[in-house]
Amino acid sequence: MGFYDIIEKYKAFDFENYCNSIKNEDIINSLNKTKLNDMDFLNIISNKAEKYIEIMAKKSMDITRQYFGRTISLYTPMYISNYCTNRCIYCGFNKDNKIKRAKLTLEEIEKEAIEIAKTGLKHLLVLTGEADTEKDFIYLKDSIKLLSNYFPSISIEVFPMDTDKYIELKKLGVDGLTVYQETYNKELYEKVHLAGKKRDYHYRLDTPERGAIAGFRQVSIGTLFGLGETIKEAFFSGLHLRYLMDNYLDTEFSISLPRINDAEGGFKPNDPMRDKKFVQIMTAYRIFANRAGINISTREKQEFRDNIMKLGVTKMSADSKTDVGGHTKVDNSTKQFEISDNRNVEEMVHSIESQNYQAIYKDWIWESGEIR
Ligand code: SF4
Repeated sequence: MGFYDIIEKYKAFDFENYCNSIKNEDIINSLNKTKLNDMDFLNIISNKAEKYIEIMAKKSMDITRQYFGRTISLYTPMYISNYCTNRCIYCGFNKDNKIKRAKLTLEEIEKEAIEIAKTGLKHLLVLTGEADTEKDFIYLKDSIKLLSNYFPSISIEVFPMDTDKYIELKKLGVDGLTVYQETYNKELYEKVHLAGKKRDYHYRLDTPERGAIAGFRQVSIGTLFGLGETIKEAFFSGLHLRYLMDNYLDTEFSISLPRINDAEGGFKPNDPMRDKKFVQIMTAYRIFANRAGINISTREKQEFRDNIMKLGVTKMSADSKTDVGGHTKVDNSTKQFEISDNRNVEEMVHSIESQNYQAIYKDWIWESGEIR
């Protein structure tokens, strides 16, 4: 059974009716379990469970400390190109948008790498728009080959591809994959992805599995909150996470909660997610999928990130730039979205340590004989 079969299983399910019928004791029973089933998860993400948010936060914090200790891993994104062949109506990189496009040369990538490496960061997230010709794949491979001289851990957030290409990239130094489904609602997915390969809902949905099969150490998923109905999106993204964790035991899975930011092509969110709902869903993910990583990006404001740091987060970005060549200012290309937390690495570490947590730059070691 693939994950789409699970989505299909809930096709006729009346979420509204079920959520209206949830009682306080249902929520308390779900919160008291050590292993929650699908309906328990729905109970604790429902609007009626918002009043239990403090209990959820405490439980989430305890589970996180049990599995991860008091640690936050750090990474930074590096945008190397913003060319894209897709038309996602919510994104500034949409191929129809008249923005300043840029693609770094290998020399410029190296300059960015040197600048970022000076901060001590070991984990890099490489991003591009989704232009996916053979030429783009070769460019990506050349970039990774170069970047692996500076970073022992490289994740990619680029165009989805077949397993054999992921295997090629793994050999060059990629050990992580980030791919967001954006929305699990197939009809909505088709409405917001107007052109390009990204229109293929199923291909994208199966991408995390192809990454796991290729042998990536970590795979990160998520839904873009604001596009679809918040409760349903949280429900299916949580189920997707559990499905992956149950089926690919050698891979570390994590989840992010990106919310649509204003700068993205003027798109207005259909169902904006409030801060309180964000915290409820984040802690629910932790309670439902204990061992999963939870990433919080600089889309979120500094104060908010600091406040939720101890409630379940395991990974945060620092010194983020969302324009191509942003770390060295080689090009004034358009940003993918506005950053809400501009702290550099030193400031992030200070903030983490001030909460008696430890900032982690590297939390793995390659098997002996593996060349890195
Ligand atoms: S979301 Fe990704 S695929 Fe869609 S337009 Fe933006 S960069 Fe391109």
